[in-house]
Amino acid sequence: MTKNELFRQIPKVDTLLIRDDVREWIEEYGRDLVMNVIQKSLDEIRERISDFEENESQDNILGENLINEIPERIHDNLVKIKTSNIRRVINATGTILHTNLGRAPIPVAHIQKISEIASGYSNLEYDLNAGRRGERYSHFEELLCKLTGCEAAMAVNNNAAAVMLILNALAKGGEVVVSRGELVEIGGKFRIPDVMEQSGATLKEVGTTNKTHLEDFENAVTQNTKALLKVHTSNYRIVGFTKNVDIEELVPIAKKFEIPLIEDLGSGVLVDLSKYGISYEPTVQESIRKGADVVSFSGDKLLGGPQAGIIVGKKKYIDIMKKNPLTRALRIDKFTAAAIELTLREYLSEEMAVKTIPVLRMITMSHELTNSRANSLAKALNGKIAAEVEVTDTLSQIGGGSFPLERIQGKAVSIKPLEMSVDKAEEALRHQEFPIIARIENDSIIIDVRTVLYDDIASLIRGITTVFAVKRSK
Ligand SMILES: *Cc1c(COP(=O)(O)O)cnc(C)c1O
Repeated sequence: MTKNELFRQIPKVDTLLIRDDVREWIEEYGRDLVMNVIQKSLDEIRERISDFEENESQDNILGENLINEIPERIHDNLVKIKTSNIRRVINATGTILHTNLGRAPIPVAHIQKISEIASGYSNLEYDLNAGRRGERYSHFEELLCKLTGCEAAMAVNNNAAAVMLILNALAKGGEVVVSRGELVEIGGKFRIPDVMEQSGATLKEVGTTNKTHLEDFENAVTQNTKALLKVHTSNYRIVGFTKNVDIEELVPIAKKFEIPLIEDLGSGVLVDLSKYGISYEPTVQESIRKGADVVSFSGDKLLGGPQAGIIVGKKKYIDIMKKNPLTRALRIDKFTAAAIELTLREYLSEEMAVKTIPVLRMITMSHELTNSRANSLAKALNGKIAAEVEVTDTLSQIGGGSFPLERIQGKAVSIKPLEMSVDKAEEALRHQEFPIIARIENDSIIIDVRTVLYDDIASLIRGITTVFAVKRSK
């Protein structure tokens, strides 16, 4: 068959449109989209055929197959175009707060409630008792006061935005004193000096990288000082010959000059994690108790909720921030407001919170539980895949720019491929229907079970068995 004959065999759009299957797709996807995809699919076929050699018998067969498979191709293209790009993945890395993987997973029960709220109208900014306009922070402000001891609270899109807002609202046009040991850079271009500049406040650095004394702060405060700022060194530690000024010690200075004492806590944990064998991280309530006037922290780090920047503190300062125009630009939507409220309600019982909030559950997961999970996974895979499967010791990390030195002991499954390279295997795992993100160590794929959600175990096993195709008995 000549190329021209092949071209002539390509069906007309009109003939395709009256097929039963195509009519069903029009119902499902919309006529305009189906038309577009038909055109695109036919163009693909024409392009393939024009690359053929003239009168090559192999190309002839290929061409006829291409033409026969046109409806299938159209359907595949339709499905592809309607499949969302952002999707669920399986985190087998062992890093609990993985910023690239969306940080904190939200409990399914919360998502169900959020879906109910967000798919209809809600009292987001409506006071049902008074029958008039309300405040979107009202749903979780009291909870935050109860949990942290603050007078008032609000939230914006993330903690970077919170810090920016605080500085802009309380210190614009003036100086803010910060220790040189706390000029933090967090991933994604958040740097204290840059945020300060953007906010319109001027950074006044005091002390040295390793040592800052109380006198350094005392000597730096002038008429132009508008605030004192402490920044939690979330993602690094300064060790050795060091001295830092505790928030408590700064309270008298802030009081004397009537300026706010601000703390960027970063993670913002509400539970004393040292009870669970993790090193101590200052809690929000402790910061408030020690006398911080304004404290900000992330919603999706150790708190285990949605992306947000939560601000708690003295009412007079929070009120100023609520009126700042930046607040409008950085405001949270109904999904976030609902998720913050639901997350915080879990903390009314710490005992429950460590079970219901996935991040806390993973951090506090016992060694025995990781061991039994790793063993069941290994058992499900052993002998069924072309790889050596073993249970091995592993160290998980908390991540998300918190606890930089902390490693949690647990068990993982190590998979050493027999029929492909470990890099190929890692890549193939990423290309599964539920992509599996894993680490490579010693030529093996490491599946750290701590960060694999219980609901994902079946998909994990399916993905791994697909990649390391079943060993054929000879
Ligand atoms: C993580 C972090 C931030 C940024 O918080 P996001 O919620 O990621 O915007 C700011 N400051 C500190 C100290 C942090 O650890």
